[in-house]
Amino acid sequence: MNQNSTTVCVTGAAGYLASWVVKHLLEAGHTVHGTVRDKGRADKVKHLTEMATSYPDRLKFFEADLLKEGSFKDAIAGCTHVIHTASPFLLQGIKDGENQLIKPALEGTRNVLNAVNETPSVQRVVLTSSVVAMWIDNTEKSHYPQEIFDETAWNSNGSLDYQPYSYSKTVAEKEAWKMVEAQDRWDLVVINPGFVLGPSLSTRMDGATMQFMKQLADGTLSMGAPEFFFATVDVRDVSYAHLLAAFKPEAEGRHLTAGEVMTLPEMGRMLKEDFARYPLPTRQLPKWLFTLMAPVFGMSRENARRNIGISLKIDNSKSQSLGVSYRPIKETLVDQLNQMLEAGLVPKK
Ligand code: NAP
Repeated sequence: MNQNSTTVCVTGAAGYLASWVVKHLLEAGHTVHGTVRDKGRADKVKHLTEMATSYPDRLKFFEADLLKEGSFKDAIAGCTHVIHTASPFLLQGIKDGENQLIKPALEGTRNVLNAVNETPSVQRVVLTSSVVAMWIDNTEKSHYPQEIFDETAWNSNGSLDYQPYSYSKTVAEKEAWKMVEAQDRWDLVVINPGFVLGPSLSTRMDGATMQFMKQLADGTLSMGAPEFFFATVDVRDVSYAHLLAAFKPEAEGRHLTAGEVMTLPEMGRMLKEDFARYPLPTRQLPKWLFTLMAPVFGMSRENARRNIGISLKIDNSKSQSLGVSYRPIKETLVDQLNQMLEAGLVPKK
């Protein structure tokens, strides 16, 4: 990896994943221009302002909104690299997919990349996409050789009405590939993370990952959980993958960045070994029963039918060649629950 210190813009710097990206960049000696929607929101940025005190003059904040044209220009000025993570991550309670998800993801990507086009110092952009831009339903595996998902996969099922978050990530990533092709000064490397888990650097609870762990530990699923297979990745590993993508000259294209494939009851049983007093889901609910109840948990019955009990195989060899190593998921889950208990985000038992 090129170790020369440089200036990097991180969009959505106060988010769960981005905060770890910022931390790795500062530790590696870089200067960071972090964008946030509102510098005055102490509840969102406190952990970063505290982090900044350990790295005088190396973490600077800029206000920017994905939906405001031109708003990333100042933050990107003077940067050699841009790590674009900002995008709404909403899985439940979506009332207006177009305005809550698609517009900010797509127009936001355009706004950020237009600012990159206007900034001659930028050499590389790293985009945080997702495995949901590769597939939404495990049934989509039938389109691929040996039913294994890799970087060649693009989801074909998403729409404004079906899994709009996944659709927003797909259209945003496609737009980024289109915009990089239209010029030849900067290049694009994409990280496609699986479901990100692990400790947060903040005490924010608005992210889907923190809500997920809260529901595992607070008894919401104590009756049992469905056999839903998903690809997981530790936040510390996937955030570091963004640095490898930014600074390894040979990095190119997309990277399926996920380690172990797990089901919810498997996670519950793993956590139970260390947190025996907590009402974690250890039993597997029958597919028919969960499919019936799916809307209560914010999932459509169609999504349940296309995923529960459908196994999943991924090929993460490209990310490993980039230098990503995956820690065991048990360590990820235990560290996250411990962090949430310490921060008072889940009541101690
Ligand atoms: P998060 O904590 O909710 O972070 C989302 C970030 O996007 C926040 O910093 C948020 O800003 C910013 N954002 C949302 N709408 C915005 C707008 N209109 N203008 C400016 N910024 C806006 O979620 P995360 O898990 O860290 O997600 C970060 C990225 O990883 C996203 O692109 C997400 O799609 C992707 N990803 C996440 C997972 C996962 O499992 N967590 C998996 C695959 C990919 P505020 O701080 O102002 O709220």
